[in-house]
Amino acid sequence: MSVLENIKENIDNSKSILILTHVNPDGDAIGSTLGFYNAMKKIEKKVVAYIPVPDKAFSFLPGYSELLTGPTKPNASDFDLVVALDVSDLTRFEDTLDLFNAIDNSICIDHHITNQNYADINYINAVASSTCENLMVILASMGIAINKEIGECLYTGILTDTGGFRYSCKAETMEMVATIMETGVNTAKIYRTVFDVTTLNRTKLVGRCIDRMELLEDGKVAFTYMTLKDLEDLSLEEADSEGIVNLGRNIDTTEVSIFAKERPDGSYKLSLRSNDFIDISIVASKFGGGGHVRAAGFESAMPIEQIKQIIIDEVRKQYEKEEKNEEA
Ligand code: 5GP
Ligand code: MN
Repeated sequence: MSVLENIKENIDNSKSILILTHVNPDGDAIGSTLGFYNAMKKIEKKVVAYIPVPDKAFSFLPGYSELLTGPTKPNASDFDLVVALDVSDLTRFEDTLDLFNAIDNSICIDHHITNQNYADINYINAVASSTCENLMVILASMGIAINKEIGECLYTGILTDTGGFRYSCKAETMEMVATIMETGVNTAKIYRTVFDVTTLNRTKLVGRCIDRMELLEDGKVAFTYMTLKDLEDLSLEEADSEGIVNLGRNIDTTEVSIFAKERPDGSYKLSLRSNDFIDISIVASKFGGGGHVRAAGFESAMPIEQIKQIIIDEVRKQYEKEEKNEEA
């Protein structure tokens, strides 16, 4: 039996499905969760999607108000199948890991090259731009036609994980977007909502991060950071820093952009990006993190200056390695 047939059979046989995604869910995490949730509702499955802290930026998505949120978890015993979307490894569940482990039958649908195949059934296609793109294939194989509600969710995930159709975007990706557009999704409105509309305080946070930006390694690496005080001063949340890492990557001399976000416990969350040369997921894995070739991340409890130094050292090593590979 193929993986797709196996997924269809398990979903068909399930009486009650729980959907989980990764901590600090991005557009692909929330888009795939709600896209799959709406699809399961369409075929009249009993389904719950649990995201402890969803990002309000995606509250325009159909089904968002039906998400189960907050610290009170659903009962694992109410479900016979758990579907993990966009979760590359068990640590990425964070607070929902016990729920995932407590449900007997599990499916993972993901596109991270670093995925650990931790579920009973794993559909991992790392060539896909996004988990939402993988869901297009899975829903088609299940005979579930995309409607406007599902389409708005899946479009949002494809849109955000491709950075607005910049990265990992293939002819196939655009064909899927065409299928979505045929359902009547207002793609221009979603694009503007997701990428352009902002607030004054968020714009001020961007200003602070630009002020602190340094160019290192002959301009090849941009580094900046955000503190908890920034968020306090401007009444913002961590999710409001989405996209700031791209500012460094857009400077004409850079290959790598590093953005560090201070966490309430004093640790840092690192976002790493590369343009067209370095496999940045290798750098992130050296620090226990992971991600994709051009976008990766990790967490660290070290002081910021120290983190900066050791990442730069690893980036330099990776640079030298990739240069050797080029020559070989
Ligand atoms: P971001 O910088 O937007 O938080 O994350 C970029 C990419 O790296 C995402 O696709 C995400 O899955 C991955 N990533 C970010 N942080 C971590 C981490 O701590 N561990 C792992 N394994 N992947 C991460
Ligand atoms: Mn994703």
